[in-house]
Amino acid sequence: MAEDQDLKDKNGSEDKPLRFCMLCQRSEKDAGALLTLPGGMTVCNDCLQRSMDTISQSGFPGFFGSPDANGMPDLSKMGGFPGFGMINLGNLQGGQPQEKSEKEEIRKKEERTAERKRPFPPVRDLKSLPAPHKIKAALDEYVIGQEHAKKVISVAVYNHYKRIFTDSMDDIEIEKSNILLLGPTGCGKTYLVRTLARILDVPLAVTDATALTEAGYIGDDIESVISKLLAASGNKVEKCQRGIVFIDEIDKLARKKNASQRDVSGESVQQGLLSMLEGSNVEVPVGASSKNAMVPMVTVNTRNILFICGGAFPDLEQIIAERERMRSPMGFGAPLPAGAGEDPDILLKVTPEDIRKFGMIPEFIGRLPVICPLQSVTEQMLIRIMTTPRNAILRQYQKLLALDEVDLIFDESALEAIAQKALERKTGARGLRAVIEECMLDVMYEIPKDDNIGTVTITGDYIRGKGSPLVTIRGAEKMLDSRN
Ligand code: ADP
Repeated sequence: MAEDQDLKDKNGSEDKPLRFCMLCQRSEKDAGALLTLPGGMTVCNDCLQRSMDTISQSGFPGFFGSPDANGMPDLSKMGGFPGFGMINLGNLQGGQPQEKSEKEEIRKKEERTAERKRPFPPVRDLKSLPAPHKIKAALDEYVIGQEHAKKVISVAVYNHYKRIFTDSMDDIEIEKSNILLLGPTGCGKTYLVRTLARILDVPLAVTDATALTEAGYIGDDIESVISKLLAASGNKVEKCQRGIVFIDEIDKLARKKNASQRDVSGESVQQGLLSMLEGSNVEVPVGASSKNAMVPMVTVNTRNILFICGGAFPDLEQIIAERERMRSPMGFGAPLPAGAGEDPDILLKVTPEDIRKFGMIPEFIGRLPVICPLQSVTEQMLIRIMTTPRNAILRQYQKLLALDEVDLIFDESALEAIAQKALERKTGARGLRAVIEECMLDVMYEIPKDDNIGTVTITGDYIRGKGSPLVTIRGAEKMLDSRN
């Protein structure tokens, strides 16, 4: 009692006893907010972080320490407290310094390389926030076409981070700009978001809406999304709270048309996501994907997390076309003007009402104020996708054969044929790799057999299964050269 009173006095508060981190013994006042672990143990953020780092660096397979030479768990590392036995305090103070410094060196080197490749310095404050045109220019280096989407997303992201950095500056609160990406499969939705997170150097979690269920059902509960983001942030809560979450296949959560009963699966997950999209405190396990008594928990606030949802929304075009028709001067019942159903840019006319008709609940749409349609990929886009980006797939094949000192050339007809074949598969740019791999298998198998081959030219006929690639022998090239 006397001790309690003493603590209260030190804290200067009547109802809040001062707590200490049980590992470093610092008070909550010095160490910041403490976490309470199962069993009532309190630890500070620094000690928790250090313990997590120790686990990942020492490669412990589980929470019970690594097995000894006889394959038995190392009980000395289990300690008396569940989930914390694995902390080797020797390691915390720099055990195996040699190995540790090597790892540290490698990590720093990787960071430096990533830093050099980055188009602008990591976004840490308002000053370092790149303007929308710079974000778009960086996206242009990787993402082909999708000009409108890149512009919309650059502005939305710029505003989002502006909102975070000016949060406490005045009374005017900028609303959150979560984004909804609409576009057919393989048009680059995920790729766009991944590229965005990479160039801004913010953590990203990509998840599939179809895997999410209400708590208590089989599947990942909704909070698992934040767990993933926390893991992508190296378990740093601060970093996680400024990250990006991409939820793909969101259209699969739409209320089923003509459903006779309440649709529990989709609609309730939409409901469940609402508060998270807006901003709420979510309790997530640290260093694990599911909650259980052994895993420490932290609270993540989702207010500043940017949520991007993506989906193909099949048949949305018809809903838009139908609405446009109703609005036209001819009015209800008038025949569709010729070609109206085939307008390739019809998705650009989408409104929140169309998405509601598709089956998303109004509250959900309200929390995704930026609606950003993407085009389906065209033949010309596919040709650019396979040739232009820095790590374009054809460049990768050329590099592989260059190591055998063979030049690989794709003539124009080959590029067209590959793009056409990929379009036939209706999987967007995702079909490209499969088509190219099928065609290149024989080339990659046969060419290294013969050291005399200098150049291989892939033609449209070869891609269509008629004929072989054109091969030039090294000596013949030299002869041609000397004749010129
Ligand atoms: P989805 O729209 O279904 O999410 P993805 O983003 O997964 O499609 O695209 C599949 C792959 O196709 C990507 O990994 C990327 O390599 C390529 N790709 C798709 N669209 C583009 C694009 N506009 N520019 C460059 N590559 C693209």
